[in-house]
Amino acid sequence: MFDTNKNKFEKFESKVWLSSPTMHGPELEYIKEAYDTNWMSTVGKNINEVEKLAAEKVSCKYAVGLSAGTASLHLSMRLAGIKAYGMPKVGHGTLEGKKVFCSDMTFDATVNPVVYEGGEPVFIETEYDSWNMDAQALEKAFEIYPEVKIVVLAHLYGTPGNMDAIMDIIHKHNAILVEDAAESLGASYKGAQTGTFGDFNTISFNGNKIITGSSGGCFLTNDLEAADKVRKWSTQSRENAPWYQHEELGYNYRMSNVVAGVVRGQFPYLEEHIAQKKAIYNRYKEGLKDLPVKMNPIPEDCEPNYWLSCLIVDEDAMTKQVRSDSDVLYTKEHGKSCPSEILDAIRSINAEGRPIWKPMHMQPIYRLNPFVNKDGLNRAKSNAYIEGSVQDIGMDIFNRGLCLPSDNKMTVEQQDRIIEVIKACFE
Ligand SMILES: *Cc1c(COP(=O)(O)O)cnc(C)c1O
Repeated sequence: MFDTNKNKFEKFESKVWLSSPTMHGPELEYIKEAYDTNWMSTVGKNINEVEKLAAEKVSCKYAVGLSAGTASLHLSMRLAGIKAYGMPKVGHGTLEGKKVFCSDMTFDATVNPVVYEGGEPVFIETEYDSWNMDAQALEKAFEIYPEVKIVVLAHLYGTPGNMDAIMDIIHKHNAILVEDAAESLGASYKGAQTGTFGDFNTISFNGNKIITGSSGGCFLTNDLEAADKVRKWSTQSRENAPWYQHEELGYNYRMSNVVAGVVRGQFPYLEEHIAQKKAIYNRYKEGLKDLPVKMNPIPEDCEPNYWLSCLIVDEDAMTKQVRSDSDVLYTKEHGKSCPSEILDAIRSINAEGRPIWKPMHMQPIYRLNPFVNKDGLNRAKSNAYIEGSVQDIGMDIFNRGLCLPSDNKMTVEQQDRIIEVIKACFE
């Protein structure tokens, strides 16, 4: 176990976070403007401006401000379901009995909205090159389930997926793409911003994202009808009538004009935040270059937003590490380490790292859902699949990887100390 008493490194006086909000000043002006004019609801100038800024930045025609990225993903799934299968009866999900192909290495907010609409997530294996959905596995999934019409894809940690190959497959099978760019605002693939590849796209302003509103998100699309629907559904589906008139199911998902004030104030600092995060990534890369570890991969032809810096320990430099559903044990060996030891070491100096997002197919809630890799191995059909074996790329990255403190307010001196602490783990 990690021995904090023997730790020769001094603790930081104030905690270095994984990724925390960074305010600049204008946010307060816009909040105050909303307050002073009593525009404290889900209508107002801040919301209009956020929608304009988001659409411009991502190069989408339409943006709709919502209470969360998850709300946007939910309404995106609803739109995709109706587009693929038609309007359900009131009280029924649009995806009932339908399978949807989903990123496996992601936060569960990518996937849960499939279930909100009654669908069944089918998880698609991850590739080492981008830590995102593997195109060959997606093709295999269409072979196994040719009836599937919807794909949900996330860009993990701000690095775009292999979009040329993925889009070819999606077009070939006439499928609808719901893109989750919650972590990747400002990242681009061959010059195109993430959030422009899907029919229905999502960005998030959650507190730990690259810019924040404390909460909030935007739905993005080039489809005017879809944008209008989301606007209507997110405000309880009120019809144009003198009284509350309802023809469709509604939701209370609209962005607040106060939250929008924060987002509006943050948008001009997006590029600055990306530059800071990129510098952090490069300093880790340089500082850790003599260790048996690698940084999270950056594929050619893409420019990430560097939201989180991650490392992955080389296979032959891993000590034994055993994780249950809620606990972990590891051993100590000369010259070797593991993510749990490194996370303990980082924590011992008052900094915050985090394990890699545990793959969805290994989450107890989704343990019975199908999981497809490029050989077509499929847990729903085959017992040949062995959990945690090397052929499971997502679990391999989870076992050997971790997210490093990536806060843009971290100083060079603080980061240097974190790098030294990581080096000491391999002594
Ligand atoms: C943060 C996040 C979301 C959800 O966004 P919220 O605004 O917190 O609802 C969705 N998907 C991914 C991959 C995320 O990281």
